[in-house]
Amino acid sequence: MATCRQRTRCACFGGISASRMTSVPGNSPENGKIAIHTEALCRHYRMGETLIRAVDGISLQVRGGEFVALLGSSGSGKSSMLNLIAGLDRPTSGTVLVQERDLARLSREELAKYRLHVVGMVFQSFNLIASMTLAENVELPLRFAEVERSKRENLVREALERVGLRARMNHRPSELSGGEQQRAALARALINRPQLLLADEPTGNLDSHTGTEIMDLVREFNRQLGMTVVMVTHERALAERYAQRMIFLADGKLVDDVRGYERPGSDRPGVDRPDMPVASGGGLKGESA
Ligand code: ADP
Ligand code: MG
Repeated sequence: MATCRQRTRCACFGGISASRMTSVPGNSPENGKIAIHTEALCRHYRMGETLIRAVDGISLQVRGGEFVALLGSSGSGKSSMLNLIAGLDRPTSGTVLVQERDLARLSREELAKYRLHVVGMVFQSFNLIASMTLAENVELPLRFAEVERSKRENLVREALERVGLRARMNHRPSELSGGEQQRAALARALINRPQLLLADEPTGNLDSHTGTEIMDLVREFNRQLGMTVVMVTHERALAERYAQRMIFLADGKLVDDVRGYERPGSDRPGVDRPDMPVASGGGLKGESA
């Protein structure tokens, strides 16, 4: 299989060929432990004479199972920060540890494995491959992880069913609405059962109703599959509605960190609402990642 040409934006394929990947490490959600730890994290870009401090000394910790929104105006460094956590980019200085892995110390191959197995990513523009059906798009990370063909088929069907797209599995992205494409991208992000879901403005190209449907799915992944979620958005209302914590960036710096922000009555099963069974309601099967 060819090297992925979209390497900088292609979290799920890891940027290297399947033949170079080795076995799938076991993923279990370690809720409550520190999942992401950044220390004086910087990503500076030099543009001629100018130094752009996209990420400028950010230290933060995110616990396993948290749902964090990363907010800030355009150019504040949200995507740069997310890309560093995703291992799509390397820091200029400082450290980023994800589940105790220091990403800067990983080899190219280890980083590719990390992107393939630990992180699921979704983007504003869906990033599906136009020439492939939904099933083929969702299957791709499994092929890179060298999962057997016989298992792949079931996993793809199951993932598409989870996002309500089983009937569309043989369609190409252009035949689907934006919301459906983002659902497919979520299924692809989920297929290798990552512990961490990183979403960069996942509703940015969607109307508010469709955006809400996508966010409901993301919340289900967080609650029922125990995935840690870091979501970039500039929509504060969306963050207030879905996230437990809002981190605000300005000029590459962390300027505010507001916890306990989940809306009253938003019913977090087993956590805010210990009376509620964890797998109740929703479209997902209660299953650990
Ligand atoms: P946000 O996602 O919050 O809109 P970004 O992280 O994309 O912000 O960008 C932060 C700053 O870094 C911006 O000033 C942007 O122009 C700059 N930047 C981002 N990527 C690059 C790059 N590859 N080269 C140079 N500057 C960049
Ligand atoms: Mg951005």
